[in-house]
Amino acid sequence: MKGIVNILTVDVEDYYMVSAFSDVIGIHQWGNFESRIKNNTLKILDIIDKYSKKGTFFILGWVAERYPEIVKEIDRRGHEVACHSHCHRLVYNMTPEEFREDTRKAKAIIEGVIGREVSGYRAPSYSITGKSLWALKILAEEGFKYDSSIFPIRHDRYGFPAYSRFPRMEETGTDKEILEIPLSTIKIFGENLPVGGGGYLRMYPLWLTHYAISKLNEKEKKSAIVYVHPWELDPDQPRLRGTKLSMFRHYMNLEKTENRLGSLLSTFNFRSIREIFQEKAFVEKAFV
Ligand SMILES: [Zn+2]
Repeated sequence: MKGIVNILTVDVEDYYMVSAFSDVIGIHQWGNFESRIKNNTLKILDIIDKYSKKGTFFILGWVAERYPEIVKEIDRRGHEVACHSHCHRLVYNMTPEEFREDTRKAKAIIEGVIGREVSGYRAPSYSITGKSLWALKILAEEGFKYDSSIFPIRHDRYGFPAYSRFPRMEETGTDKEILEIPLSTIKIFGENLPVGGGGYLRMYPLWLTHYAISKLNEKEKKSAIVYVHPWELDPDQPRLRGTKLSMFRHYMNLEKTENRLGSLLSTFNFRSIREIFQEKAFVEKAFV
């Protein structure tokens, strides 16, 4: 087991809520689809338990409202419960007022379910970019201690390649600051290559993800941020029709995710962001 502690995150949403299909499925239609979120989230919880690890679960307010038992189970098993917006709308497509309203609603619902404060936020599809950086100030004002929404890469839907590759405290112009925990990258030929989660975990050969996490831990002495979605462990989910690119990204290698996640959990140390926050010495060593 390697020494540096990595961060495991799960974005708790169902297969029909994803941005890849949001142009063909609106939120008003979500109730029409077969829900698979409970079983898929339990599957992830069981895998994490098998390797005695902990993670941070970013949950949609919409999900917490309808399936509070899932949120309670995540909390009961000792994982951190955090916020993944209410409606899964991209931040840069909202006005600051709409963003504040969506975030406040989700936070209140999730906190109501678990009976304690929620400190972390992750935007749908990493949609805090150069043009929606204003969102960090709103998150700090709404009581969040950290955000993990910036992917410092080039991508058609998200990305902020000029941003720091590692966590940094963001001033907001008020007395509140917020820690930004960007998603993991490794530097290849001067470019940031996204690694360690979601489609990248499914698309790359497994050795490349292992290599990237080892490189971050051993060469750069930094934590990797790994992320998965419950639907990524469900190859039998109902097929939806979207653009060719969206379908490729969403369905590729779904049958491999479970084993790949297990392989990462058995090889590296993983904890929740909350646990890491509780160890100030660790934060200073790994994040500064
Ligand atoms: Zn999401």
